[in-house]
Amino acid sequence: MSTLFTRIAKGEIPAEIVYEDSHVFAFRDVAPQAPFHVLIVPREETAGLASLPDEGDHLYILNAARRIAEKFSLDSGYRLVINQGKDAGQTVQHLHAHLMAGRPFAWPPG
Ligand code: AMP
Repeated sequence: MSTLFTRIAKGEIPAEIVYEDSHVFAFRDVAPQAPFHVLIVPREETAGLASLPDEGDHLYILNAARRIAEKFSLDSGYRLVINQGKDAGQTVQHLHAHLMAGRPFAWPPG
């Protein structure tokens, strides 16, 4: 059974894909928390940070984030977030990074 995000990558669930390469794909979050909010997802299905192998598609998330930031001219800054587990609010068990921009972000995060 594919994860929700793999089904998006396959086109089975609609989403606005903004970037893809052989390792990761990225699409707009359905409930954006900032004017720009996309999810960067490794093609390999791993549940989250806690269960990652040493090698794999997840190693390409940072490169994708930089390329997306360049593509969308996120020149005033952006934030990259990975939620792991219940306390962090992870709701989808397929590793993903949130790339958000377009407003100031508080620190520390809530
Ligand atoms: P997390 O809470 O870190 O697991 O993030 C999961 C994210 O997936 C949330 O920000 C949701 O809004 C987003 N999401 C859930 N379903 C969809 C969908 N069908 N298309 C786009 N984003 C989604």
